[in-house]
Amino acid sequence: MADRYLHFTGTAPGRFLTRRLGLPQPAPLRRWTLDTPRLDGPLLHLTAGDSAITDELAKALATTGLTVDAQAARPAGIVLDATGVSSARGLAEVHAALHPVVRSQAPGGRIVVIGAPPSFEDHHQAAAQQALEGFVRSLGKEIGRGSTAQLVRIPAGAAPGAAESTLRFLLSPRSAYVSGQVIELTTAAPDPVADQDAPLTGRTALVTGAARGIGASVASVLARDGAHVIVLDVPLAQDDLVRTADRLGATALPLDITAPDAAARIAAAAPDGLDVLVHNAGITRDRRLANMPAERWAQVIDVNLDSVLRTTDELLTSGTLNRGGRVVATASIAGIAGNHGQTNYAASKAGVIGLVRSLGPRAAAGHGVTVNAVAPGFIETRMTAAVPLFIREAGRRMNSLSQGGLPVDVAEAVAWFAQPGSAAVNGQVLRVCGQSLLGA
Ligand code: NAD
Repeated sequence: MADRYLHFTGTAPGRFLTRRLGLPQPAPLRRWTLDTPRLDGPLLHLTAGDSAITDELAKALATTGLTVDAQAARPAGIVLDATGVSSARGLAEVHAALHPVVRSQAPGGRIVVIGAPPSFEDHHQAAAQQALEGFVRSLGKEIGRGSTAQLVRIPAGAAPGAAESTLRFLLSPRSAYVSGQVIELTTAAPDPVADQDAPLTGRTALVTGAARGIGASVASVLARDGAHVIVLDVPLAQDDLVRTADRLGATALPLDITAPDAAARIAAAAPDGLDVLVHNAGITRDRRLANMPAERWAQVIDVNLDSVLRTTDELLTSGTLNRGGRVVATASIAGIAGNHGQTNYAASKAGVIGLVRSLGPRAAAGHGVTVNAVAPGFIETRMTAAVPLFIREAGRRMNSLSQGGLPVDVAEAVAWFAQPGSAAVNGQVLRVCGQSLLGA
């Protein structure tokens, strides 16, 4: 369903009228294309306080392909290294660094603040570093014009190159619908990548629920990044599934993910093992709890959570998930904020968040595998097209970018998690929601 309001505000009369009425002004977002793979302008690298990672950060920023220019008058990206800010007074340097430049940033720009994990031993450092979270989330809400702001925490002792894949993602058109997020990196060293334009070359990825919607888009983006993709969906969706597979040179696997032998059939379809496992299949069966039969509750928990747990466990223990593997599950902002009529769905999606946070560190230690989740907000798909008009419009506008996201926005986040270079990204839940006010 097209967002007519977004088109209307892009016309001169629409802009005039909506400004006069004080209505939201969504800026069209620039997403990745072959012709526009990078942000349109230079990058400003600023520092607040003393930093121990200046050189390492400069090296990571050089891999973004953007020109780093200390005098850039109209930067597309601004990176502020605030890892050394360790007191309330030190926060003045954050203000001093960004206050003079924030207004001059190009539309659709990116601000990335680099922080350190808040310390358990030094409450002054912890206060200052936690302050950056409130700062970035507020900045994301006020900068407008399709720009975004994030906080990336880099721990002491991070491996060389650990932050590169994350900075490349955040400082590119691929993260167009991600804002107000906090990403905590680990010290794990990135796995080597031969070709940054096709980082998944030689890897096999399986995407569940890939016949349509977000899953089909995830499959496309992983194939674009070089992976051989196995697309899985229920046998009823076989026609759409085969169409998706044919388009991508992928393998179609018609299979209900709740089947008791699902993991065994996935393993049989991937004789050389899996490098990327994307749990995207999901259903809703909405009713208020008072009216919800046990069957509707069970269906949602089974597809959205139990099958994710079961197949992940079995594919890990059978060794089907190769070392350096990536598991990406799909949560939802409903799993963070809760939603009327969705006790079952929100429980299942909150469960996915619990799974990711608990299993991530252990999967890395035991199998060299990372486990992360995307938490989409309002994404324009068949699922959201079925939402009643008023709620749909509220979903589209109640975020910092005043519009819904597209399936490709979720897909790009999944592809970032899936990269070999993203070994230091583990146990994270990335909201792809334009900084929705729900659960903020
Ligand atoms: P969709 O309904 O368009 O697609 C879901 C796909 O999963 C369908 O092709 C369906 O056949 C498949 N599927 C369902 N049950 C299955 C099963 N048992 N085995 C195998 N495949 C099965 O949904 P979508 O909007 O593309 O959503 C994809 C994921 O993103 C879901 O997990 C959903 O909960 C989540 N999500 C979506 C939004 C949104 O705004 N669209 C927001 C938050 C989270």
